[in-house]
Amino acid sequence: MTHTDFIPYGRQSINEDDIAAVVKSLRSDFLTQGPCVSEFEQAIADKVGANYGVAANSATSALHLACLALGVKENDRVWTSPNTFIASANCARYCGASVDFVDIDPRTYNMCPEKLAERLHQAKQNNTLPNVVIPVHFAGQSCDMEAIHKLSKEYGFHIIEDASHAIGAKYQGDYVGNGTFSDICVFSFHPVKIITSAEGGMAITNDEQLAKHMKKHSQQGITKSPDELTQMPGDWYYEQHTLGFNYRMTELQAALGLSQLSRLDDFITERHQQFARYSDLLKDFPITLPFQKDGRNSSLHLFPILLPKHHKASRKAIFDALRQANIGTQIHYIPVHTQPYYQALGFKKGDFPIAEDYYQRTLSLPLFVGLTQEQQHRVVNVLRQALADHGVLA
Ligand SMILES: *Cc1c(COP(=O)(O)O)cnc(C)c1O
Repeated sequence: MTHTDFIPYGRQSINEDDIAAVVKSLRSDFLTQGPCVSEFEQAIADKVGANYGVAANSATSALHLACLALGVKENDRVWTSPNTFIASANCARYCGASVDFVDIDPRTYNMCPEKLAERLHQAKQNNTLPNVVIPVHFAGQSCDMEAIHKLSKEYGFHIIEDASHAIGAKYQGDYVGNGTFSDICVFSFHPVKIITSAEGGMAITNDEQLAKHMKKHSQQGITKSPDELTQMPGDWYYEQHTLGFNYRMTELQAALGLSQLSRLDDFITERHQQFARYSDLLKDFPITLPFQKDGRNSSLHLFPILLPKHHKASRKAIFDALRQANIGTQIHYIPVHTQPYYQALGFKKGDFPIAEDYYQRTLSLPLFVGLTQEQQHRVVNVLRQALADHGVLA
């Protein structure tokens, strides 16, 4: 690597064992619908301490399956965070539900439980309570699930955790996904996420019926299970019971995912080392570093920094300066309600001011397994210069 090589904000870490696992699956009898997928499902469920895993070809598909399993339908209401990738909201739209958002906490950038409580109180009076709430564990730090779960009991909604950033993260000492505070939890295995299967996702649940529902809908609504068939004329026979999708994960993806899962603990350890190094190198900078709440052990998917309010006009120039220096900074996230698609559904700029203000001032610094100390120093030096050039740093 030379000092000018491009440093992305995130990327996969693939070693020889990962490659061997995929090659082995390529040489096996099954490229899809074989043993690796169920092994991967069980391994993820075991790792996070839950009963069932349902693999899918993306977290987006898994979120859709989760919404369907919880009965989300036309004219239902689903609430999520505006500070997320669009998929957290789109999954509800696929089911014909309307989407609304709950603004974020200004320190964790996660859905604010106090705001959620206020909104629920109002919604109850208007008879517009949500059917499902989808908290998103932004950057790998769990939301305040105990508070959200408590509200779900009071107001009667289901919870899907969008844990796309958060496999390996812990909340109150337990792995995110163990199901204590939600019905279903979804992980993403996209290459920029914590572990990868190239594309891929998984829905985790403790509820056998939800697991069966999601599995069936991931394979065209087909069942072959003898207890569900209406007749059994022969071994060729299967039945379609519902309108499902082809959301299947391949054997190659599952083989890669399994191999990556065995590296998860090391990945999280390395991310924590990089996080600590950035925190130290940046401690005197006039910027806000990611805040880690007590009782959370983040998987540290991202390292979002925040410029001071009075310097928000400089964000673009600082972003451009980093990119110019081959540092792949990125912005997480453009508030979902400001997307033209959601504006056309009636949302306006100003609807969720904390997420919007955060968006205008944030930048994510590169953080991924394999990022070297030297590269972190380079990122910090370029950032220091950019902040100085734009009057943020005296
Ligand atoms: C990446 C991501 C998704 C979608 O994941 P895919 O596997 O790419 O479909 C959903 N929600 C959040 C918060 C994400 O970051």
